[in-house]
Amino acid sequence: MTLLPDIKSTKVNLLGYDLAHMKAFFTEIGEKPFRAVQVLKWIHQFGADDFTQMSNVSQSLRNRLSDIAEIRAPEIVAEQKASDGTIKWLMRLDGGNSIETVFIPEDNRGTLCVSSQVGCALDCGFCSTAKQGFNRNLTSAEIIAQLWVANRALNPLAQLKDEAQSKHGKVQDSKNRVITNVVLMGMGEPLLNFDNVVEAIHLMLEDHAYGLSKRRVTISTAGVVPALKRLREECDVSLAISLHAPNDAIRNKIVPLNKKYPIKELLEACQYYFSGDTKKKQFTIEYVMLAGINDSEKNARELASLLKKLPCKINLIPFNPFPDSDFDCSKMQTINRFKDILYKAGYVAVIRKTRGDDIDAACGQLAGKVKDKSRRIKLDKMN
Ligand code: SAH
Repeated sequence: MTLLPDIKSTKVNLLGYDLAHMKAFFTEIGEKPFRAVQVLKWIHQFGADDFTQMSNVSQSLRNRLSDIAEIRAPEIVAEQKASDGTIKWLMRLDGGNSIETVFIPEDNRGTLCVSSQVGCALDCGFCSTAKQGFNRNLTSAEIIAQLWVANRALNPLAQLKDEAQSKHGKVQDSKNRVITNVVLMGMGEPLLNFDNVVEAIHLMLEDHAYGLSKRRVTISTAGVVPALKRLREECDVSLAISLHAPNDAIRNKIVPLNKKYPIKELLEACQYYFSGDTKKKQFTIEYVMLAGINDSEKNARELASLLKKLPCKINLIPFNPFPDSDFDCSKMQTINRFKDILYKAGYVAVIRKTRGDDIDAACGQLAGKVKDKSRRIKLDKMN
């Protein structure tokens, strides 16, 4: 019997390997672990996608790597630029799905909003990604690729031909970095794709890769409590909690995950996340403003008393509408009143500026293309 050649690549994709994984790879192929640092730098600092570019790696090893490995990222299939400078990329993944990644430029920083899953299983009623259903987790390569691809698109100097030249490149110079912050606030629930998200974050923090500080990488979660506890042990980056309600009755309706992990458990997990570390400052509470649902003065006072003992600031997010959404955004006057009540109670509360809404790049508007939408995880199957 003859076997048909496998058209799928059989090469290992090194794009998503963190330092430990890369060292293990080189050890396994009988090479010295220091090669891991060289290759990481080429891939992530100089944007290399081809082993032949790696001029400080011996010719024979370059040839060998070209035979067995690859550096493969999703392809950009569409790029849209909003009037405020926000850029949204649609990237096509293996298997026909696609995801969206958004770059938000501001005066003193550039934030990349990264997706962690194809679609989302959580079914929050006010989120358009939820309406897409869930297909699969992204690999660590697909997660870090969003940063790698965006860096190359925003900063062509990253694609340098050799290391000597790259010393003068922008990517080397942290002051000129275009992407200074990463938020895992795109499609998906990052803590339901724990291992791949953590490996990609290791690369974001790794000095030989992107070298971002922990404070500049933020995981946003609807509150997967056991995973929050694990995260504290494995990589304690900044945290944003999608709370959106001051009590369980309201939250059960808009964030179904609350039925599994109610507010009290969630806030205890947040407190634990920050316990014993005085360097970590505070976390962010995200609160989407939905007219007539969670935006009354009573709700604001309830929220203030709920968060009393926690080191947090509050981001009020005006609801971004999408086709067939069942909600309306609160009036600006209501949002301001809500903010004032929190402010008077001693909180730092800010109204999140909506960015990129003319290209559907704002919070909760990312949809991508989810092939099989039926794979909604049952809440009782979650870890
Ligand atoms: N699953 C994660 C991250 C993705 S959503 C989480 O729940 O945190 C990123 C943020 O955008 C979350 O706070 C989410 O609740 C909010 N969001 C979702 N849909 C929105 C919408 N239509 N308008 C405004 N914010 C929205």
